[in-house]
Amino acid sequence: MIDVAIVGGGMVGASLAAALAGSGRRVLLVESAPPGTGAQPSFDERTTALGNASRRIFEGLGVWESIAPEAQPIRAIHVSDAGRFGFARLIAAEQGIEAFGYVVANRRIGIALWEVLRGAPDLLLRVPAQVTDVQIGADAVTLEVTGESAVPERFIVRLVVAADGAHSQIRTAAGIAAAVEDYAQLAIVANVASQVVHAGWAYERFTPAGPLALLPLHDGSRAVVWAAAPARAQELLAMDERAFLAQLQAQFGWRAGAFTRAVRLGAYPLRLTRAASTVAQRTVLIGNATQALHTVAGQGFNLGLRDAAILAEVLTGDDADPGAPERLERFAGWRATDRSGVTRFTDGLVKLFGDQRPGIGLLRDLGLLMFDLAPPAKSALARVSLGFGGPSPRLARGLPLRHV
Ligand SMILES: Cc1cc2nc3c(=O)[nH]c(=O)nc-3n(C[C@H](O)[C@H](O)[C@H](O)COP(=O)(O)OP(=O)(O)OC[C@H]3O[C@@H](n4cnc5c(N)ncnc54)[C@H](O)[C@@H]3O)c2cc1C
Repeated sequence: MIDVAIVGGGMVGASLAAALAGSGRRVLLVESAPPGTGAQPSFDERTTALGNASRRIFEGLGVWESIAPEAQPIRAIHVSDAGRFGFARLIAAEQGIEAFGYVVANRRIGIALWEVLRGAPDLLLRVPAQVTDVQIGADAVTLEVTGESAVPERFIVRLVVAADGAHSQIRTAAGIAAAVEDYAQLAIVANVASQVVHAGWAYERFTPAGPLALLPLHDGSRAVVWAAAPARAQELLAMDERAFLAQLQAQFGWRAGAFTRAVRLGAYPLRLTRAASTVAQRTVLIGNATQALHTVAGQGFNLGLRDAAILAEVLTGDDADPGAPERLERFAGWRATDRSGVTRFTDGLVKLFGDQRPGIGLLRDLGLLMFDLAPPAKSALARVSLGFGGPSPRLARGLPLRHV
């Protein structure tokens, strides 16, 4: 019998599998897209801003060393409201930290995680393969998995972990409802070059059409994540490079100098998806399967990685039933504050800065200015990169898991 079946080997599922490697638990990982081929949606050309807790978890998983040469530290953050006077600056050195986070290409994270998984003991990989049937019972879960041979295999598992993204098939099979709120925005992702050296500065600019983020990259270029209404986003994607650069310049301004080159890499619909519960009979949801967020605060993966680190901790240290209800309740309770805090913070930012009612812009300006002048508020935000509330998992504190 398999102890833990992880369905979905994207950013979060692959991280959980790496965390459980060598734990003594027999783990099955099922991923529908072949990794390392560019076909896996989680590890595409997007970049991710990893917070400091995520960096420590990756160190514990043994993947940071291979990611680090391509990880750009965020040394300062500038937040502004387009067309208004308010702005705020956060400088990492002033908070006594090296960086607020590190920007890395998802593709690079995928390579590092899959290197670890290929050599992991007690890990059964079914890649590329689909879960073609799920039967959840009181004592075990039966999974039917079909790979390239088209001959289905049956696995009896004690716990199934849904890491299969926002449209989770396992969440549906477990009967867990999900509330979906469409922000009616697409996030355009691009790589741009500009005349001014980035020096580790990240920018978040709130515009009436949606937030625009500029993140520093290790090769000197910058990643753009630009949220806009779908029709406007389609226009921006269709226009030639010069016209796109002119639009970007008009929205962002001149803080990064003149933009000289832009490669558009794709567009992603922005929705808030919230599962009604994180656990059900012999089932746990992690990552986007349990909460998928707007990109504005760059928190989705950081939150999902903490799901993985805490679940790994809850599943190790003894060899009793990994799917026992009290164990699952312990996981759900441990995750509750962090999950709801980050979700509310992210959703609140989208709504506050998207609000065009008269007077609200002035309040935002005052808020940003007060924030800029108030050191305690700045240190509080600096701590966001460590996770929102609740005890940190051992991995995020730089401690190894206790193995069986
Ligand atoms: C433009 C953009 C920028 C972002 N920037 C940041 C950022 O800076 N910081 C941050 O923290 N977060 C960021 N995020 C959020 C982050 O990308 C997600 O939170 C993260 O990818 C979630 O990972 P996941 O593994 O839970 O889900 P997914 O990435 O959706 O992966 C799910 C995996 O499951 C596989 N799968 C699906 N169904 C099945 C099945 N039935 N059987 C087997 N396998 C299956 C898929 O192939 C995929 O590999 C960003 C998101 C976007 C769109």
